Amino acid sequence: MILVTGGAGYIGSHAVLELLQAGHEVLVLDNLCNSSRVAISRVERLAGRPVNFIKGDVRNRPLLNALFAAYPIEAVMHFAGLKAVGESVREPLRYYETNVSGSIALCQAMAEAGVFRLVFSSSATVYGETSVMPISEQCPTGVPTNPYGQSKLMAENVLRGLANSDPRWSIGLLRYFNPIGAHESGQIGEDPDGTPNNLLPFMLQVAVGRRSELNIFGDDYPTPDGTGVRDYIHVVDLVKGHLKALERLEQSNGVSVWNLGTGAGYSVMQMVRAFEEVTGRPLPYVIKPRRPGDIAQCWSDPRKAWQELGWRAERDLTTMLADAWRWQRQNPRGYAGEKTGDKKTAPAALAS
Ligand code: NAD
Ligand code: UDP
Repeated sequence: MILVTGGAGYIGSHAVLELLQAGHEVLVLDNLCNSSRVAISRVERLAGRPVNFIKGDVRNRPLLNALFAAYPIEAVMHFAGLKAVGESVREPLRYYETNVSGSIALCQAMAEAGVFRLVFSSSATVYGETSVMPISEQCPTGVPTNPYGQSKLMAENVLRGLANSDPRWSIGLLRYFNPIGAHESGQIGEDPDGTPNNLLPFMLQVAVGRRSELNIFGDDYPTPDGTGVRDYIHVVDLVKGHLKALERLEQSNGVSVWNLGTGAGYSVMQMVRAFEEVTGRPLPYVIKPRRPGDIAQCWSDPRKAWQELGWRAERDLTTMLADAWRWQRQNPRGYAGEKTGDKKTAPAALAS
């Protein structure tokens, strides 16, 4: 059985579906602070199998101990965390506590239970500002400009120290570039709370009429059209990389780092044009000043994951945008449009 922390969230829910479809048993631990129980119900429907779901906090050591005692957990995918850059600047302690202390609590419980295989959600933000493109895993980590990025780098360092201290650990640090898109069914996808920070969720809300126009943050970057360039990767490709990493970690130990990206960069303006093609309608936008802390460009060298995991991203930009658009059209208000009875799958003694 695989424990998936944060399994009700955007990436976690896609990972849970992929794990179930690959025949794994899954236990989800999520406090639902940024997600909905509906996502889990939809994953169950798509997979045709129930999911063991526990509503609880990854920082809750007694709960973690009880879970490791009650379920035959062989490995962990650790998605639970906070991810809003701006919020992390305003509330740094909450970010360090959840992203760093949460990872520490999880590893303590894993070690006590004799579970040493861990896939960790890291981010390309740990590379900081670097001008050499594409970014390979050899590129030194930089100085992330905000507490979110710092918390990811700190968690990576905690995990390195841990693996150095005990050879039984086998840890994959997966550095994501820009995950977008949704499962092809349109049943699960990204459902941001409030105003979206990220480009595609904002564009989607403009397209369904929830917002009037997109703000393009800067058209004076040293890029071909002046707008920021990123490496967007389909969330389904991303989670397939996690399953490959999980398999690979069974035969290795120590820490392994893999970039999960496509290797191709697209500018904001290219994203707007490609999105207009997919939706068949114009996307209103205005040019605004650069967003503080943004880098001009960032794309991956994905070759290490291909060489070592036999994994590479397969879905192109049009597929990413079409799948995201299907999700948004079918669920204009995200998961809020649906209520489910809160099926209690947690044994009462384990619920926090
Ligand atoms: P998300 O917010 O949709 O998912 C995170 C999940 O963790 C949510 O369901 C939330 O309820 C849960 N959670 C948060 N704090 C928790 C706690 N203390 N205990 C239990 N559950 C808790 O975000 P996502 O986009 O799916 O991201 C998943 C992971 O990937 C995060 O660690 C994030 O930092 C990392 N990541 C995301 C991106 C991205 O662009 N989405 C990029 C790089 C890295
Ligand atoms: N961006 C934008 N308008 C938005 C959100 C983002 O122009 O409403 C730009 C941003 O400046 C960057 C790119 O889109 O160049 C991707 O931003 P996102 O926040 O999605 O990812 P990140 O900056 O974290 O890589």
